[in-house]
Amino acid sequence: MTGDRASDQAAIRTASCSCGGLRLSFRGEPLRVYACACLECQRATGTAFAYRARFHAEAVVEDVGERRRFRRMADKGHWMDQIFCPTCGTLIYMEAEVMPGALVVSVGCFSDPDFAPPAALFWARRKHGWYELDGAIDQKD
Ligand SMILES: [Zn+2]
Ligand SMILES: [Zn+2]
Repeated sequence: MTGDRASDQAAIRTASCSCGGLRLSFRGEPLRVYACACLECQRATGTAFAYRARFHAEAVVEDVGERRRFRRMADKGHWMDQIFCPTCGTLIYMEAEVMPGALVVSVGCFSDPDFAPPAALFWARRKHGWYELDGAIDQKD
């Protein structure tokens, strides 16, 4: 099998907003999957933690729909954009000054309960007390 054949057979995953107007498809595996319990992520997602997968921008094979950006300043004054559907408001991905060429996608938008688990939980000290993590998930303060 050639390398080209192998990449042709790589998984294609599609992230979609609630109304289906904004959709992005990615070829291949994410670079990293993580969760974050910081208060900004709790607010942005409206829930106890964010669960995200980072992909190379080059992994995007389909990108459809209108979007809006909300820019916030993160640690040390670097910008971070939350990109959402203007119709339904789903935060489908983020881009960050510190991660050029990458999209950080909300894993829930893939509608795939078998998606890879997070390798780490950032801001673990903000974790809500009611949930416990698998021991394989590295907790980082
Ligand atoms: Zn939508
Ligand atoms: Zn966070």
